Amino acid sequence: MSDPSPALAPLIDGYRRFRESNWQGQRERWARLREGQSPQVMVIACSDSRSDPTQIFDTAPGEIFVVRNIAALVPPFETTPGRHGVSAALEFAVQVLKVREIVIMGHGMCGGCHAALTQEMQGCEPGHGGFIASWISMLDETRDTVAARYGTEGREAGRAMEQAAVQVSLDNLRTFPCVATKEKRGDLTLTGAFFAIADGELHLLDESTGRFSPA
Ligand SMILES: [Zn+2]
Repeated sequence: MSDPSPALAPLIDGYRRFRESNWQGQRERWARLREGQSPQVMVIACSDSRSDPTQIFDTAPGEIFVVRNIAALVPPFETTPGRHGVSAALEFAVQVLKVREIVIMGHGMCGGCHAALTQEMQGCEPGHGGFIASWISMLDETRDTVAARYGTEGREAGRAMEQAAVQVSLDNLRTFPCVATKEKRGDLTLTGAFFAIADGELHLLDESTGRFSPA
């Protein structure tokens, strides 16, 4: 095989460190995991390279089931044609793995939320921003409320959008019948969270007040 690209090379180095330390140190755990996984928690986070749930929650392999996408969004329950990746992952986590908890983790300086707020991708062709525009259009209603109150520029507006998006995803989660039923039964808990990049602080949402406070 040819040498890895300059971008991939540091990752292959990282893989070698992983094999020597993490994997060696947790061989028994990996051997057990070979039999299957039973994570108790599903985390839905942004694809942003700065908001990695396994890093932030310092989890071990097998501990959390993760979906990451632009802006950490959950679409509503929809049966329209299309490849519903998040819905499929959700179905698997809730119905097959039977996770007990779903965490939606938004984050600071989120590019997806910024695009929702400024609507800078609107009208773009698929492949040139159109997929992003379509994906984040699920924030449109909330975006209008945020924009009316805070405008569309600056960190106050940005953070308001990022935190409001977490509530949108929680609301959309509850449109999935299996989620709503299990939450009502007390078999499943939904939690909104927000990771502020610069200070590394995690905030948890109190849905009764709409406030995020440090965990
Ligand atoms: Zn993001």
